[in-house]
Amino acid sequence: MKSLSIKVRQLEESATLAFTQLARKMRESGVDVANLTAGEPDFPTPPQVKMAAVRAIEENFTHYTANQGIPELITSIIEKFERDNGLRFERSQILVSCGAKHTIYNALQAICNPGDEVVIPAPYWVTYPEIVKLVDAKPVIVQTTAAEHFKISAAQLRKAINAKTKAFIFNSPGNPTGSVYSQGEIEELADVVKDSGVFVIADEIYEKVVYDGVRHFSMGSIKQIKDQVITVNGVSKAFAMTGWRIGYLGSSTPVAEAAAKVQSQVTSNATSIAQRAAAAALSAPSDDVQKMVEEFCRRRDFALKEISKIPDVELQDPKGAFYLFPSFKSFIGKRMNGALIKDDMDIAQYFLKEHHVALVPGCGFGAKNHVRISYACSMKELEKGLGGIAEGCRKLRDAY
Ligand code: PMP
Ligand code: GLU
Repeated sequence: MKSLSIKVRQLEESATLAFTQLARKMRESGVDVANLTAGEPDFPTPPQVKMAAVRAIEENFTHYTANQGIPELITSIIEKFERDNGLRFERSQILVSCGAKHTIYNALQAICNPGDEVVIPAPYWVTYPEIVKLVDAKPVIVQTTAAEHFKISAAQLRKAINAKTKAFIFNSPGNPTGSVYSQGEIEELADVVKDSGVFVIADEIYEKVVYDGVRHFSMGSIKQIKDQVITVNGVSKAFAMTGWRIGYLGSSTPVAEAAAKVQSQVTSNATSIAQRAAAAALSAPSDDVQKMVEEFCRRRDFALKEISKIPDVELQDPKGAFYLFPSFKSFIGKRMNGALIKDDMDIAQYFLKEHHVALVPGCGFGAKNHVRISYACSMKELEKGLGGIAEGCRKLRDAY
């Protein structure tokens, strides 16, 4: 038999999905695992959104739609961008896809040539480098530090950009760190973007999930670079709609049309029923979103308090998204039952196997010694998981 594609053989599987699946399997086999892996709100999708989908089915709205998306959803997206982000788009500048992950893929396919470089600050969402490789471009990783709240500076960005650089992937609020860039920090980065002419993929999927009075700011609202910014968003996080698979972008017309051309040959339109539901979500009053964010804030505060009681675990105070990204550096090199804990993968395996807490190791996010804790799960699961982490750390501290 002939071999598989070299590109696919070199591709990493999504670490978030892999660990989520591992936890799911353990649970199916009867182990009571606290699953703190997935970035998936545990709330139900709001009722008026579900009703819109039911109506769509009853009305037989179950066929192909326009590749770009249904007119009412495009209208809702244009209104949302203007209302929430100060972004003005024409209809030709919007594309609806099967989740923000798919949106990012289409956008990168639309702009990258083989060998182009794409700058990605680390820690990054697991998918960015791999999706860049899928379009035959080269991820260029810029390491950020906890001391700088895991934010890339304008000087670091300038240094990373050269003649081969095509794009910069920017994610605020960020997965996995929860860091949120201020308007001033974004304006400094925008100066570099303007001078270099690169595209920006501004992934704003967590824009609604911000705490402590911090405000999200959209890079695309800076007039001087408007045409360079591809603003990506979706309904997965803000409306607890991960399974519906609707993401979208707003960009210059040539980019949106090129991305639509890619989509037209790969998936065609996003699901007709889910598009109707997404239109209802985006045009609904934001009560449900607000309630969800208040609950996330309560869980974040609880998780921060519990983790801060554990000696030797270093943790930032995240201002957005629903993740904690602590460092377990001081536990690396310990032995547990004779086995050496040599890295964050071993830490994650240890918590999973010995204490039945599922987390995602930092290596998938380009950050050694860390693990990601998602608090998008229920409070009960979070309490159980954090209890397991505290107990696991206590045992590790006593180990040699
Ligand atoms: N961007 C980031 C930073 C994410 O964490 C995720 C994961 N949900 C996505 C994009 C993709 O979201 P979806 O495909 O569910 O819209
Ligand atoms: N983005 C979510 C996460 O980081 C869902 C999993 C994924 O798509 O990678 O957990």
